Amino acid sequence: MSISKLLGAVCAVSILAAPAFAQDYPTRTVRMVVPFSAGGPTDTVARLLAERMSADLGQQVIVENVTGAGGTLGADNVARAEPDGYTMLLHHMGMATSATLYRQLPYDPLNSFEYVGEVVDVPMMITARKEFEPTDMASFIDYVKTNADSLTLANAGIGAVSQLCGMLLMHSLDTELVTVPYKGTGPAMTDLLGGQVDILCDQTTNTTQQVQGGTIKAYAVTTGERLELFPDMPTAIESGLPDMELAVWHGIYTPKGTPAEINQRLSESLQIALADEGVVSALADLGSEPVAAEKATPDALKTKLESEISRWKPIIEAAGVYAD
Ligand code: ASP
Repeated sequence: MSISKLLGAVCAVSILAAPAFAQDYPTRTVRMVVPFSAGGPTDTVARLLAERMSADLGQQVIVENVTGAGGTLGADNVARAEPDGYTMLLHHMGMATSATLYRQLPYDPLNSFEYVGEVVDVPMMITARKEFEPTDMASFIDYVKTNADSLTLANAGIGAVSQLCGMLLMHSLDTELVTVPYKGTGPAMTDLLGGQVDILCDQTTNTTQQVQGGTIKAYAVTTGERLELFPDMPTAIESGLPDMELAVWHGIYTPKGTPAEINQRLSESLQIALADEGVVSALADLGSEPVAAEKATPDALKTKLESEISRWKPIIEAAGVYAD
């Protein structure tokens, strides 16, 4: 038998020997781990996707909140899970920033996971409790600079984007606020609504309905352009804070060793969910939109994560903010 025939036979056998689950996967409930509290922005996106992916996969995709340490405990939970296709992680750009913020991570962001695809990019807003005195971004900047040591800034811990945004805000204003960490910006928003904390920089998936309802104040958005949803709200950049451009990208990961066919099947299901009219409409109502289908793929997410780790490393090192 020629070498090429022999290689062809070996390949044919290995394909035939591929585990049967690739064809009838999934046969039971799939976990979607969210590394922040229920009711927050990441949880909101996850539950939108989980419902639609359940319909496509024919098995329940259940959202499980595994919180703590700015999202790194949830990521570690998935890094340690069986690579059998029944656990995935939905996390945001904290997967990239934590690589620098934490000098002793229990997992390797680039080598402890497989990739399914990117999900959404979500703008952020600088918000405050309803009774906060400043009435616009200019007076907000003056007021915060003058009263910094008596003001509290909520976030979801080092590794959360609310912490990153708050860090950029303090750096831009050259001031230090009293930071109050939570296990997610769901509970942080509860305290902002109750007036227990003063300021929160959070994603529009968590702030839009509160701002529209007048239960919190919003001063600026962190995107390069104003949002269609809030045409009268200035960007932080046009308000004189050039470093405050931050759109929060999200991705779905599986434990290292999860078979490529499963990651591909989950990517297909993710793309179906992101194209679903109900999902698109719900995200639009929250100031966000799904990524293009070609970004909801394993290779696209791997490339995004690698480039974002490199992008944020020098910025974080210059700020000198580390979790450990
Ligand atoms: N995305 C986090 C959450 O859902 C908050 C954050 O990263 O700031 O709670």
